[in-house]
Amino acid sequence: MQSASCDIGLVGLAVMGQNLVLNMNDHGYKVAVFNRTVSKVDDFLANEAQGTMVEGAHSMEELASLLKRPRRVMLMVKAGETVDRMIDAVLPYLEAGDIIIDGGNSHFPDTNRRTKSLEEKGILYIGTGVSGGEEGARRGPSIMPGGNPAAWPHVKEIFQAISAKVEDGTPCCDWVGENGAGHYVKMVHNGIEYGDMQLICEAYQLLKDGLGLNADELHEVFDNWNQGELDSYLIDITSQIFAKKDDDGSPIVDKILDTAGQKGTGKWTCLSALDLGMPVTLIGEAVFSRCLSAIKDERVAASAILPGPGYAAKEDRAAFIEDVRRALYCSKVISYAQGYMLLREAAKEQGWNLNFGGIALMWRGGCIIRSRFLGKIKDAFDKNPNLNNLLLDEFFTSLLVNYQASWRRAIIQAIQYGVPTPAFTTALAFYDGYRTGRLPANLLQAQRDFFGAHTYERVDKPRGEFFHTNWTGRG
Ligand code: NAP
Repeated sequence: MQSASCDIGLVGLAVMGQNLVLNMNDHGYKVAVFNRTVSKVDDFLANEAQGTMVEGAHSMEELASLLKRPRRVMLMVKAGETVDRMIDAVLPYLEAGDIIIDGGNSHFPDTNRRTKSLEEKGILYIGTGVSGGEEGARRGPSIMPGGNPAAWPHVKEIFQAISAKVEDGTPCCDWVGENGAGHYVKMVHNGIEYGDMQLICEAYQLLKDGLGLNADELHEVFDNWNQGELDSYLIDITSQIFAKKDDDGSPIVDKILDTAGQKGTGKWTCLSALDLGMPVTLIGEAVFSRCLSAIKDERVAASAILPGPGYAAKEDRAAFIEDVRRALYCSKVISYAQGYMLLREAAKEQGWNLNFGGIALMWRGGCIIRSRFLGKIKDAFDKNPNLNNLLLDEFFTSLLVNYQASWRRAIIQAIQYGVPTPAFTTALAFYDGYRTGRLPANLLQAQRDFFGAHTYERVDKPRGEFFHTNWTGRG
């Protein structure tokens, strides 16, 4: 007969759940598992989990009965209503002090709501981001937990054991903050992931269409980039993608339809940025670029009608590749600066005490955006925990100063070739806007006052005093 000997229960045996269970098992934790489609429990035990300590349950009641007290139940199910349904399903078998963890990509307002309503029932709730995909879940993901702080001591050991580690062994998992803070940070992580991927795609198109590089040459360029400042998971897999051949020996990347999918976390990041009034323009362009890619038929039709500049590239190849590399790096710096601006504003609005350096450390390993560069962000916040903007850190300032000529050249070339680089371009526009002491919003305020009597402040009067001009002279 089975006894209450399992350390944790996991509900949801899809790709993430299965791999997290095996990861926990590797670290000596006994896991009980349950899945809506119960046959998947038996399949899992008979196949992937064969020979492990994992125990299967055929109902939520059975799952709860297998757990040590306080019970820890982790949900790895489809985000949205399913999470509420699964919480309702497990609640009758839990008691005060038990812990529910949602490890899916839930929207942070839902996690705010769930943390509060479960606290009223005596249940400790955690909403955590888990990043790194299938491989991360299996070998060590980045884990970003938030929710009820009283729950953290109960899961800290397991989560830090199964998470990725940076070079010195520090786990890529630490407490993020109250309520939906963990899911918020995961959402911004995903938004930044959208931005990083878009930047790489723009570099690809510039080098392919502008310079005429083939997949083998692109493999070499990206492999080379991965040895230096741009060293990161996404650059690494991009280099591997260019090397992969289809059955007929041609590069498989050339056979893949150019319509991008999305699941919504990038859009959520942008919506939150709009709500908070933060100019997170690069992630916005990354989301819109996926939207533009999705209207393939329209683009194909337009390509026969709307001409480009018809400019043939005659660049110094090595110099151009270096310009593109630097443009990618500078744009990436802007994207992270924007992401951190958003985190800062959200923390202010939600009352979260976010540890910005700690977040960079959590993203440093295990997750999709892991990179050497995140170590520099951690350093910047270690030097100055109150750093107002990443761009003002000495390392990033001097990088932008040194690379901006290349960045500008790459964009000029892109415009001349007619190659779209919305993320490179918006990053540069942000840089130029952010460093401009006087923007043309004076004229904008005049226009608003002209047509709507919205009033304006004056440079020669104290802030907070508002003026109106009778622009037409009419009464
Ligand atoms: P998924 O495809 O998002 O979800 C599948 C799981 O949810 C299955 O266990 C499924 O049960 C269950 N489920 C779906 N609808 C349900 C319902 N109405 N009632 C009960 N259970 C239901 O799985 P995943 O890709 O492993 O992701 C799990 C979570 O992690 C998601 O929130 C996802 O966004 C997040 N995430 C995924 C990745 C990734 O790379 N895949 C990375 C990070 C985070 P059945 O087997 O019965 O259908």
